[in-house]
Amino acid sequence: MTERNASMPEFTAKTANLARMYDYFLGGKDNFSVDREAAEAIIKLIPEAPALARANRAFLRRAVHFLAADGIDQFIDLGSGLPTGGNVHEVAGEIRPDARVAYVDNDPVVAAHARALLEGRGSTVFVHADVRRPEAILSSPELTRVIDLERPVAVLLVSILHFLQDADDPFAVVRAFRERMAPGSYLVLTHGSGGREPEAEEHVREIYRGSSVAGAVDRSPAEIMAFFDDFELVEPGLVECSRWRPEPHDRADGAGLPGYILAGMGRKPR
Ligand code: SAM
Repeated sequence: MTERNASMPEFTAKTANLARMYDYFLGGKDNFSVDREAAEAIIKLIPEAPALARANRAFLRRAVHFLAADGIDQFIDLGSGLPTGGNVHEVAGEIRPDARVAYVDNDPVVAAHARALLEGRGSTVFVHADVRRPEAILSSPELTRVIDLERPVAVLLVSILHFLQDADDPFAVVRAFRERMAPGSYLVLTHGSGGREPEAEEHVREIYRGSSVAGAVDRSPAEIMAFFDDFELVEPGLVECSRWRPEPHDRADGAGLPGYILAGMGRKPR
């Protein structure tokens, strides 16, 4: 599915692009000077931004491992970003070689890279769509080719919900996904929760507003918990992302990070 509409970022090297800025934070090469400048401006305000991006990515890896070990063999990765180290199909495939993954992102740069990477793979698809259109995503022929919504599925919303504005009604968006998930499914998310100097926060928001998204919105722990509704939170609950079931090899990177990014995983009751 390729939905062309005004809500999608255009491909341009003239405006900073969220997916490419995140790629820069992670040490990737798929970014232009405009992205590097915007990312560096954020690093000036939040020096730990690259470490936070790595900690977020390390959480994603641990969460997918946990789920695959728990028997989950299908994943919908919403706001998947540019392919990088530890993509969901690679991580899940270490435990479940039969895992099926639908990647979803509204960015044309992500779409081009993801399609090139996934070409010829039967069990992994890319859906070029806006997360604010849950029904269009869940009924798209690409997704339904690999994902069976009658069976438990993991829906990943990792570092994307804070790019949805209040006017987008992110709670309704997540509810629409939750309602379509079979009992025993999992919802996984990370979300910015503020905690920085108010002035720095406003500058960061401004930098994001000048990029391919409308801005970044921090939400309180109580608001982030509301995304899970009646889903049962997996231990240790909603915590700073590097504290979610840390493993020895990524503990060093996450140690001492401020609690700007919270992470959690919830299971739909059976
Ligand atoms: N989930 C990956 C991770 O945590 O490593 C990538 C996170 S990256 C910060 C956010 C991604 O969300 C970007 O690739 C961006 O294009 C995508 N995104 C932002 N708004 C979106 C929307 N409305 N619909 C679909 N994707 C969106």
